[in-house]
Amino acid sequence: EVLLCGGAIASPQLLMLSGIGPRERLQEHGIPVAVHLPGVGQSLSDHPAVVTGFKIAEPLSITDQLFLTRGILSPLRLAEWLARGSGPISTSGCDYGGFFRTSHHLAQPDLQIRFVPGLGTSPDGVGSYRDIGRNGKTPSGITLQSLAIRPNARGSVTLTSADPAESPLIDPGFGTSDADLATLRDGLRTSHAIAQQPAFSALLTEEAWPRIDLQNDAALDDYIANTVHSGNALAGTCKMGRVSDPAAVVDPELRVRGVVGLRVVDASVMPSMPGGQLGATTFAIAERACGILLSEDPASPAQRGREPAVRDPAGRGSS
Ligand SMILES: Cc1cc2nc3c(=O)[nH]c(=O)nc-3n(C[C@H](O)[C@H](O)[C@H](O)COP(=O)(O)OP(=O)(O)OC[C@H]3O[C@@H](n4cnc5c(N)ncnc54)[C@H](O)[C@@H]3O)c2cc1C
Repeated sequence: EVLLCGGAIASPQLLMLSGIGPRERLQEHGIPVAVHLPGVGQSLSDHPAVVTGFKIAEPLSITDQLFLTRGILSPLRLAEWLARGSGPISTSGCDYGGFFRTSHHLAQPDLQIRFVPGLGTSPDGVGSYRDIGRNGKTPSGITLQSLAIRPNARGSVTLTSADPAESPLIDPGFGTSDADLATLRDGLRTSHAIAQQPAFSALLTEEAWPRIDLQNDAALDDYIANTVHSGNALAGTCKMGRVSDPAAVVDPELRVRGVVGLRVVDASVMPSMPGGQLGATTFAIAERACGILLSEDPASPAQRGREPAVRDPAGRGSS
């Protein structure tokens, strides 16, 4: 049996390259269709994220602690981590934060605000990662990152080529949901209010971003449209579902529909988003997969799938 664990981008890409996916999309790239599964690569979900940032006068940021100068890691900090496993290298950089319901009508929080003891070089989180990689040094400051953790938007992963070395096209669907936008607007306002509390405001010298009128929805929407970035929570592209769900890619036992001897075991099978980071849920999926495999009768159909038998659930394109 094959267990596919490439993650929410690579797993659907590998399935499609292998002829398992939406028929029309595969045919566009000349890939022979083994199984027409329209849901492969669809239903991509991610946490859209935007930031509020402030400069501070004192060199208290995590990057102040980590780097001596441009790109040179502090040997003291490295020694501290090697010897004791502590210090700034031992932190993910966003260990603190909170969960909020932006409306009292909501049963669960829809907004997460993560506190980052550092300031990027741009409000686009991904651009900042690149700059930190290149230059190592960023301004002293703090960031509050707002994430819409129960997003309504859905995007997709589609092939750009039949060549496995070519990256697929990733469209997280950001900006397609008014509800997600409202959550992020609320996040920017709440972040600003938190930063104005005395414990913070005594340290802050200047707002870095968004630097707009927070009462102006249109200005907030512009800022979100220009700076929204991934909250690193990609899921849903091989989603689990019942036979009655045409968009389902795997069944509740993680088996790819219509294919014998193939399961997907990663975040791509999540049919809906947990309201937080996906690591623990992914571990739970992996543990569940182990449980299923260990309890399964070796003579069961899934186990017998060692022969490369593939069939189309709709009865077409069998091979
Ligand atoms: C920057 C960042 C920070 C994060 N921080 C947190 C956090 O603090 N807490 C939390 O809970 N979650 C966090 N997450 C999310 C969490 O890491 C993911 O949700 C989780 O790892 C998803 O697991 P996965 O098995 O689906 O995919 P992955 O962990 O991505 O595993 C897929 C694996 O497949 C490999 N692979 C892909 N294609 C191929 C191929 N063709 N051949 C061979 N191997 C291949 C990849 O190299 C990778 O090792 C973070 C994610 C990112 C990107």
